[in-house]
Amino acid sequence: MERKAYYAEYIYYQGEMHRDSYLLVQGDRIHGISTHADEEGNTGYTIEHFHNSLIIPGFINTHTHLPMVLFRGMADDLALMDWLKNHIWPAESKWLSEEFAITATELAAAEMIKSGTTTCNDMYFHAGTVASVLKRTGMRAVIGVGVLDFATKFGKNADDYIERAAEFYLKYEKDKLISPALCPHAPYTVKPENFKKCIDFCAKHDVLLCTHLSESPHENAESIQKHGRTPAQLMNDMGALDIKTNLAHCVHINDEEIALFAEKGVNVSHCIQSNMKLGSGFAPVKKMLDACVNVSIGTDGAASNNDLDMIGEMNSIALVHKGLNFDATALSAETVLKMATVNGAKTLDLKRVGELKRGNQADFIVLSFDEPHMTPVFNPLSHLVYSAKSTDITATYVAGQCLMKDRQLKTLDEEKIKDDARRWALKIKNN
Ligand SMILES: [Zn+2]
Repeated sequence: MERKAYYAEYIYYQGEMHRDSYLLVQGDRIHGISTHADEEGNTGYTIEHFHNSLIIPGFINTHTHLPMVLFRGMADDLALMDWLKNHIWPAESKWLSEEFAITATELAAAEMIKSGTTTCNDMYFHAGTVASVLKRTGMRAVIGVGVLDFATKFGKNADDYIERAAEFYLKYEKDKLISPALCPHAPYTVKPENFKKCIDFCAKHDVLLCTHLSESPHENAESIQKHGRTPAQLMNDMGALDIKTNLAHCVHINDEEIALFAEKGVNVSHCIQSNMKLGSGFAPVKKMLDACVNVSIGTDGAASNNDLDMIGEMNSIALVHKGLNFDATALSAETVLKMATVNGAKTLDLKRVGELKRGNQADFIVLSFDEPHMTPVFNPLSHLVYSAKSTDITATYVAGQCLMKDRQLKTLDEEKIKDDARRWALKIKNN
C-alpha cells in the first residue's frame, strides 16, 4: 500500500489547527498526523512538501446541477419563474443530449477540482453520463435521478423516472465513489401522489431524497393555495422528513418549521449566491444553526450563480449573515468551513469524508498563502473565508489520488474541455 506524507505549515485536522506537520496517508485513507514523518525515509513514507500552505478537508457541494455550466451566463438578471419557464427549461429541452452532458460534466468537474471541491451532490438529467464522467475524473459524488410529473425526453411520467432511478441505483449502490440518490424536483413540479412514490423508493433503498424547497415567496403562496399548507408542512405530512433528506434553499421557512427540521434531523443545503442572484431572499441560516439544524452549502447550478466556487459561497455566507443579523460574531470562519465540509458529509450521509482524521478517506485540498492578498497570515481559516480566491487552491486529492497539483488537472484535459464548451456556446448562440 502506498504511503505518503504531506507536509504543510498548517493542517486543519479533526477540528484543530496543527503547525508544521505531516498528514499521513496510506492508500486511499488518512492514517494520522505527525510533527515528523522521518525525513530519512525509513518509515516508507514518500514525502511531499506544501510550503506556506494550509491543508483542509475537500469541499462538499451539497446542491448543484452540473451540466448547467454550459448555460452559464446565458440568461441573467431574471426572476426565478421567468428564468426557469422562459429560458432554462426551453434551452434544456432543445440542447440536452449525451454529448452535451459529457462536455458539460467535464467542464464542471474541471472547475470543481480546481476550486477545491472533492464531493458534489448533483441532481439533473443524464445521471448515468454525469456519474460515468465524474468517476473517470476521480471525484466523489452523490448523484440523483430527477423526477417530474410531466414528460421530457428522459421520461414519460413520474413512474418512468423512478424506474430509471431504480436502474441507476442497481448500477451504483456499491460503488466506491458514486452514491445514488433520488431527486423529485420540487413540491410544485411533483404532485403529492408522485412525491409519495419517491419517498417510498428512498425509504426502501435507504437512499437520500433531494429536492428544492421554499425557494421563493411565490412557491409558498402557490402551495398554500393548492394544498392549504406550506411546502415544508406538505413534506412533513407526506413523511419526507422521516427519511434521509437534503432540502435545497429553505429560504422562506418560519420558526415552527425550523423547530420541526431540528426535531426531524432534516438537512438543509444553503445556496446563498443563487438565492441572491434570483432575488429569492435570504434563508434564516443563523436561526437554523442555533436550533441545531444541519446546514451545508450548495452552489446550485452555474446558470444561477454563475460558478461552482465553494470559497465564494463561504465568503458570501459569512459576510451576508453577519450583516443580516447585525452581529459580527454570527457565523465565524470556522463555522462556515464546517458547513462546507463536515456538515456536507452529514447531509449526504457519507460516513468517512468531511473531516481529516484517522480512517477517513484521504479527500483533502491545499490552499497557498503565496499571493499578496493572502499575506501575512495570522489566522489561516480567516484567510480561507475572507481573503482567499479559488485560484489559491494548489492541489486537490480524492481517496488519496491527486486530481490537481500546481493548478494542473491530472485526470482531465482542460484545454480540450474548454474548446468543446466554446463550440457548444457557439451552437447555442447561433440557433
Ligand atoms: Zn437547484
